[in-house]
Amino acid sequence: MELMEQICKLTDELEPHMLEIRHQIHERPELAFHEFETSALVKRELERMQVPYEESPCRPGIVAVVDSGKPGKLLMLRADMDALPVQEKTGLPYASKTPGVMHACGHDVHTSNLLTVAEILNRTKDQWSGKVKLVFQPAEEHGGGGREMIKAGLMEEVPDACFALHVETGKKGILAVSTGYLTAYSDGYTLTVHGKAAHSSTPEAGTDAIYIAASIVTALHGMMSRNLSPMEHSTLNIGLISGGSAANIIADEVEMSLMMRNLSKEARDVMCSRIEKLAQGIAEAMGGSCDCDFHPGYAAVYNDKEFSGFVADTFRKHEKLLYGNFSWEQPKEWLETGEAPLLGAEDFGFYSQKAPSCMIWVGVCEDASKHSPEFCVDESYMKLCTRAMAMVAAEYLSRG
Ligand SMILES: [Zn+2]
Ligand SMILES: [Zn+2]
Repeated sequence: MELMEQICKLTDELEPHMLEIRHQIHERPELAFHEFETSALVKRELERMQVPYEESPCRPGIVAVVDSGKPGKLLMLRADMDALPVQEKTGLPYASKTPGVMHACGHDVHTSNLLTVAEILNRTKDQWSGKVKLVFQPAEEHGGGGREMIKAGLMEEVPDACFALHVETGKKGILAVSTGYLTAYSDGYTLTVHGKAAHSSTPEAGTDAIYIAASIVTALHGMMSRNLSPMEHSTLNIGLISGGSAANIIADEVEMSLMMRNLSKEARDVMCSRIEKLAQGIAEAMGGSCDCDFHPGYAAVYNDKEFSGFVADTFRKHEKLLYGNFSWEQPKEWLETGEAPLLGAEDFGFYSQKAPSCMIWVGVCEDASKHSPEFCVDESYMKLCTRAMAMVAAEYLSRG
């Protein structure tokens, strides 16, 4: 039997087990860096399949390897394991048993899907070459588990390509493969303005930190329209400001927190440099000073042109098998390639900084959005995730 047909048969065969595993993970959601039960389940499953794995020094991450034993490329496949601080309201029989914690972003689907892909690749490894690393990472939602695993050595052997998928609310059964920036750089600053306290009756004796802060706020919003190209997709939000102690006292300190999102590194660099120059320059000109603390957040996910093109071509080439024998009908416009980038953040961005990468969206529900208490994946679409990922891997590693 041809490899791709065999993969489809295996996805059919393994579907009931995959759903069972998904229900177990869904029932016991765990927050960022606390995914120990989930990680134990991943290890048990890998042992059952006899797929070797290592525990990452960034706990409780797991890296499994399926090696064909033949020379070839190294492909990395990634799933995230963490849940969110959300009280589930789906009413599902396998709804979360942990109050206030829920798999509201579908990472339970990603984990059970990657386990199934591991089993499929392990059973077919005589038919492709090279090897696959399967990454089960903690803390995508909060804390940058991907970045921490990379710091702990995940990419010491640099993969030829990295692939991941994310389940999405939208048209069910759609595969969205775009090229270029997919999500944004998300970074923050804390600006602390220092002035000098004085009584309000003698303003000449003090330096008003609130007045300085107000000038900085105005200047930063002006910067957005004057220093960035209108073609850039960037946002800046000063979402927190505090300072002062009483109406008749000139404030000596104000703290402001801001968040910025950028789709390109160039725009991000411009914003960082302008924010610091404006804040410090304005504060000094007005007799005070300003400390600028940069808080780097997630890197933008960048879908490599060539690899993403290959992913889309693989889907086109195997469309019939990909969408064969489902209980639902294949959508007419099943492959979307011109998706506009989102200004959200995803820590797969750290992978895409190290190796040519591609992250795709798979439509699995149509009503509630991700991160909401009603987010509910239509499980009859999970097999599409498995086929998509296993086919990309098999096609990539069969090319020699
Ligand atoms: Zn999320
Ligand atoms: Zn997510």
